[in-house]
Amino acid sequence: MSSNVLQTPIDYLKGVGPNRADLLRSELGIHLYQDLLHFFPNRYIDKTQYYKINQLQRNNADVQIVGKIVHIKTVAQQKGKRLVAKFVDDTGEMELVWFRGQKWIKENLKINVPYVIFGKCNWFGNSFSMPHPEMELLTDHKKSLRTAMQAVYPSTEKLSNKGITNRVIIKLMQQLFIETKGRFFDTLSAPILSELKLISKSEALFNIHFPKNQELLAKAQFRLKFEELFYIQLQLISKNLIRKRKIKGFPFNEVGNYFNDFFKNHLPFDLTTAQKRVIKEIRNDLGTSAQMNRLLQGDVGSGKTIVGLMSMLLAIDNGFQACIMAPTEILAIQHFNGIKDLVKDLNINVSLLTGSTKTAQRRIIHEDLEHGDLHILIGTHALLEDKVKFKNLGLAIIDEQHRFGVAQRAKLWHKNTIPPHILVMTATPIPRTLAMSLYGDLDISVIDELPPGRKAIKTVHRYDANRLKVFKFLKDEIQKGRQVYIVYPLIQESEKMDYKDLMDGYESIAREFPLPEYQISIVHGKMKPADKDYEMNRFIKGETQIMVATTVIEVGVNVPNASVMIIESAERFGLSQLHQLRGRVGRGAEQSYCILMTSHKLSNDSKTRLETMVRTNDGFEIAEVDLKLRGPGDIMGTQQSGVLNLRIADLVKDNEILKVARSYAVKTLKEDPALQKEENKILRYIHLQLMKNKNIWNYIS
Ligand code: ADP
Ligand code: MG
Repeated sequence: MSSNVLQTPIDYLKGVGPNRADLLRSELGIHLYQDLLHFFPNRYIDKTQYYKINQLQRNNADVQIVGKIVHIKTVAQQKGKRLVAKFVDDTGEMELVWFRGQKWIKENLKINVPYVIFGKCNWFGNSFSMPHPEMELLTDHKKSLRTAMQAVYPSTEKLSNKGITNRVIIKLMQQLFIETKGRFFDTLSAPILSELKLISKSEALFNIHFPKNQELLAKAQFRLKFEELFYIQLQLISKNLIRKRKIKGFPFNEVGNYFNDFFKNHLPFDLTTAQKRVIKEIRNDLGTSAQMNRLLQGDVGSGKTIVGLMSMLLAIDNGFQACIMAPTEILAIQHFNGIKDLVKDLNINVSLLTGSTKTAQRRIIHEDLEHGDLHILIGTHALLEDKVKFKNLGLAIIDEQHRFGVAQRAKLWHKNTIPPHILVMTATPIPRTLAMSLYGDLDISVIDELPPGRKAIKTVHRYDANRLKVFKFLKDEIQKGRQVYIVYPLIQESEKMDYKDLMDGYESIAREFPLPEYQISIVHGKMKPADKDYEMNRFIKGETQIMVATTVIEVGVNVPNASVMIIESAERFGLSQLHQLRGRVGRGAEQSYCILMTSHKLSNDSKTRLETMVRTNDGFEIAEVDLKLRGPGDIMGTQQSGVLNLRIADLVKDNEILKVARSYAVKTLKEDPALQKEENKILRYIHLQLMKNKNIWNYIS
């Protein structure tokens, strides 16, 4: 391994003086030779290959095409004009577009003469277009010298200002390969290399920086992405295996009376196929002696509660207690009422424990719990208090997981000498790719189907100017006996402003919907919990028709009679939040609506978010768009995970490679859990290093 050389400080590389070294460190985090080696290009200019118009892909980098201009016209647009040329080859047509220098271009372009054009293609409307292409007559092009594929490295303004151009980085990289002789030990095992037909490490690193051709570049990218993802998966999965081996759980061997009786006689509806599948997955887990740690994902309204309940019945069948912890009191009460109703004929004791449970009642609960007389305890954080002691807690369910921290989950673990099985239920869909990377150490179940008969929520986007029509619509719905949510953004930074917006909004609504005909509730974060609950309950009971609120109502509230969700300043909400809010309606039999109100000023991202909401109700699809818009770093819970400092792989685009990497990690650990085989020596070495240090690329070369 050139590892010694790779540890050399970057200052020693020929061509790097003290000034450049400082810039490389501060701007790009390049301290050592190895950091430069793993500073990967983000795209390539390929002038060796010619594309046909019908080969263009929407995500092509720069492309080079031979064809002719057949027509030029000037098109007026909002600001100024643009020059548009129709460009054809023997496979199709596309547009070339200029916003600047139109006059010169128009006068000098030749019609019906072969050109070679080069640039980035955009997909617009229904065809490809290339803005400001580099152009050369084919006859000249044939005479000129062409360089092969060239790497383009990420840069910063400061770097380019100080003259560290792409050309300079390429020079340094060449120097690095000279000094290291470009020879690096391989960091994957021989069987993996041969099965996947991967190119060697040295070849991959060379071609990622100096691609000889497209094919080798693709192989280099695959190899390096695979490697990055493989080692992350190896870590996550081995952690999971270690946990399963080390941490004994209670085996729930029996599927007994409670479960069967409920299933046969008291199930209020037929389970969906997805619910059945998930219950089976959970049953399998609970039947083994390993502790379950499972994440149950299911869109709002997909019916997670019943799955949770049936899992608890399994615990009770085996002589254990179970609990559900919800993030708010309102949610805990809702679960309590719902579950009590479902099990009313089963002779099961259920209690509710929250911050507002009276001392006397609390004492009874504590005693019943310790004696094992209480089967199911439902509540809030109050469950975590030390005084709450179970006789034998077998299963703990956490609802709406993102509101709870990891530390709290850990506290539940220690409620018993043997940790209970844990089921985390979340309605925030996490794209599968991300879930695999983030929760590789949890098992995942997904309910990907809604109960039958649900009417899709109709979602529309309206501008503030249409407010009167929207109010009219509300009045009609209220007239039919329905209830309405009106939600205002409340974002920490501009809290004062937002609060004012909310109050102004409330006043204008109060004017538009006067007493006594209309009753309005208002709920926001600055209210005392008791007042919040009071207002919320008035709405739940149907005493008020309109709920004016901030996002405090985002999670879990279930008022089936509410059929309209108005989201004010919808452009200011993130996609997942919009989806959560919309999930508050569409819970009853009636057609429900979601109206996204915005001003006319919208950024491109806001437009995409609004369009996505209007187009689909599918939480997973929405989560994928969200991931693309925001990047994984911003998605809930990813910050602390540390797995997302990816150098080369992209969790969105490299989904397929991730699957391969995961399957190989699983297979490897299955065949050789401790990585003791001779052929896995290198895997073991790197894996152990990684367990100590998060930066993967320091160890995989
Ligand atoms: P969530 O996954 O959002 O927690 P819930 O468990 O609250 O969803 O279920 C939403 C509603 O759908 C509840 O009123 C529940 O009774 C109902 N429900 C759940 N499963 C089914 C089913 N298989 N068929 C019909 N209704 C169902
Ligand atoms: Mg729920």
